[in-house]
Amino acid sequence: MPGDDQIWTRLRLPVPLDAVDAVSALCIDLGAPGVVTEQTDFRRRKKAPRRVRRTTRIEAYFPPDVARARLELRLGRALEGVRKEFRGLDPSRAQLEDFETGDYGTSWRVHFPPIAVGKRLRIVPSWHEVAPDERIVLQIDPGQAFGTGHHPTTRGCLLEIEQACAKVPPARGLDVGCGSGVLALAMRALGVGRVAAVDHDPLAVEATAEATRVNGLGPVATGASLASRRGSYELIVANLFANLLVELAPKLSARLAPRGTLIVSGLLESQEKDVRAALRRAGLRMHRRRCLSTWVTLVARAPARKEP
Ligand code: SAH
Repeated sequence: MPGDDQIWTRLRLPVPLDAVDAVSALCIDLGAPGVVTEQTDFRRRKKAPRRVRRTTRIEAYFPPDVARARLELRLGRALEGVRKEFRGLDPSRAQLEDFETGDYGTSWRVHFPPIAVGKRLRIVPSWHEVAPDERIVLQIDPGQAFGTGHHPTTRGCLLEIEQACAKVPPARGLDVGCGSGVLALAMRALGVGRVAAVDHDPLAVEATAEATRVNGLGPVATGASLASRRGSYELIVANLFANLLVELAPKLSARLAPRGTLIVSGLLESQEKDVRAALRRAGLRMHRRRCLSTWVTLVARAPARKEP
């Protein structure tokens, strides 16, 4: 973490409630370790406006090493990109300003509370101590790479990994776009025999290696891309973006063992049709979908025998 006495950049932006996850995710992608939302329910006001409307204000904090001019440009583009999906999201209302951190440099951590996911997992920030219970604890440090389990796409994948491991855990698993390593860790913790994790961001690969060590869940083989891994997998998880999933569908399908399961996420409902079509073209059969606040997770299966 940067020191506590430096100038961060604070973004403030009013957003419709259904856009909170999308805007938070893009802030995290652009380097904000923490996002704070403050909910305003207009119905609670004495003079209710004629149209009942629910909105909130997002505050995201970007550390000193995120250059302001670059941030402004990328944020503008990213907000324009999601604007069409959410009525009432107005990127021109984004305010960026200097923020002297005081002790904020560490206090953002309170915004990553431990969470229980599904029936068996609990994700806990690495600095947090928890009393042991029946859940398997995964310690994650969200400082560098994406993936705390709080985002609906990560959560959707974790819930589907739990399902896939419920009866007989798959022998081999692959996490494509591993970020913090949370999905690879979940696979290992839930019984997948051998797990590999790839990410084109070296910080993510490092974070995943460190997380497997801290959690005592190694070894997890790591690499920079799908091409760096050999062999086939009974379970593949890819929490990426819709366009990339469409592009990668044939390669992901080629790496699935017969009857293997592919879990993909990172797509909005409006992008689901394209991703489904790509998976079908790649020879996979749709098994299930899960939608958590407009983010979709799809589960597809490989046939028993592959086409020659
Ligand atoms: N698996 C984590 C992180 C998902 S974020 C979770 O579910 O929370 C997506 C990750 O994919 C990022 O870490 C990003 O660096 C990585 N990524 C994006 N495009 C990639 C590509 N073409 N190849 C490998 N990794 C990629």
